[in-house]
Amino acid sequence: MITRPISQIIEPQYAIEGAGVLLRRSIAPRKSNEYDPFLLFDHFAFNDPVEGPIRGFPMHPHRGIETVTYMLEGSVNHRDSLGNSGRIGPGDVQWMTSGRGILHEEMPRRSEQSGVIYGFQLWVNLPAAQKMGQPRYQEVNAATIPSATKDGATVRVVAGEFNGVSGPVTEISASPLYMDVRLAPASRFVFPVPSGHTALAYVFEGTGKFAGETVDSVKMIVFGDGDQIEVESDSGVRFMLIAGAPFREPIVPYGPFVMNTVEEIQQTLAELRNGTFIKS
Ligand code: MN
Repeated sequence: MITRPISQIIEPQYAIEGAGVLLRRSIAPRKSNEYDPFLLFDHFAFNDPVEGPIRGFPMHPHRGIETVTYMLEGSVNHRDSLGNSGRIGPGDVQWMTSGRGILHEEMPRRSEQSGVIYGFQLWVNLPAAQKMGQPRYQEVNAATIPSATKDGATVRVVAGEFNGVSGPVTEISASPLYMDVRLAPASRFVFPVPSGHTALAYVFEGTGKFAGETVDSVKMIVFGDGDQIEVESDSGVRFMLIAGAPFREPIVPYGPFVMNTVEEIQQTLAELRNGTFIKS
C-alpha cells in the first residue's frame, strides 16, 4: 500500500456569502478545477452572538452541481422551487443534486442551547451527461447515519464505506467518500482511498499527523496520489474525509452554476431572465 503524501495545506479564508453570512472557505469553483470532482468547501462557524443576526441564503438557483450540507450544531431551514421544505438539524445531512435546476433558500439558525451554528457545505460536480438531469434530494436524518469504530477511530459514514459500514447516500456520480472522522488520543487511522481519486481532509478540531506531517485545525489538506490515508494523533483530532473520482471534463463556473461551456452558462442566464429556468 502507498500512503498518500500531503500535496497542499489550505488555510481557510473568511468570506461573506448570501445575505451577509460569514464563513470560512477552503476551496471555491475555478476553471482550473484542481480538486475535481470537488468545487467548494465552506465552513459555517458562528460561535459568538456579537456576530449579529444570521440572515442566511435567500432564494437562489443552482444548476450542474450537488450541494452537501452537514450540520453539527444549529440548523438550516430549507425550502425550494420543487415544493420541498424542511430543517437540517445537528448531525443531519442534505445531499442535493441540482441537475438542470432548482431555486432554494437556506437559512442557518443558531442552536437554542449553545447559540452556535457549526456545519459544512461541500459542492460536488456533476459529469456533463448529468448536469441537465432531474433534481434530487437525499435527506438523511442524524439517526440513520451509521457510526463505525476501529482502533480508536470513530467514523460517521455519510457516503462510502468504512470497516463494512456503508453510508446512506448512494448513486452519486463522483463515487464519493464523505465521513466525519474522530481519532481518540494516541490512535492511528489507516484508510484505503482508490488511487487516482481526489482526496481531501478538513481538519476542524485538534491536531494530527497526516502522512507523518503535523497539521493543526483549522486546515484543508489536499493529498497526493497513493492508495491509503494515514493519520496518527497524540492528543486527538477530528476531520471530514472527502474523496471522489475526478470527471476530467472542462468546467465553467459562474456563481451558483457550474457547467462545461460558456454557452451553457449563457443559456442558463437567458432561462433565468425569461422564466424557463425551472422545468417541470
Ligand atoms: Mn444553495
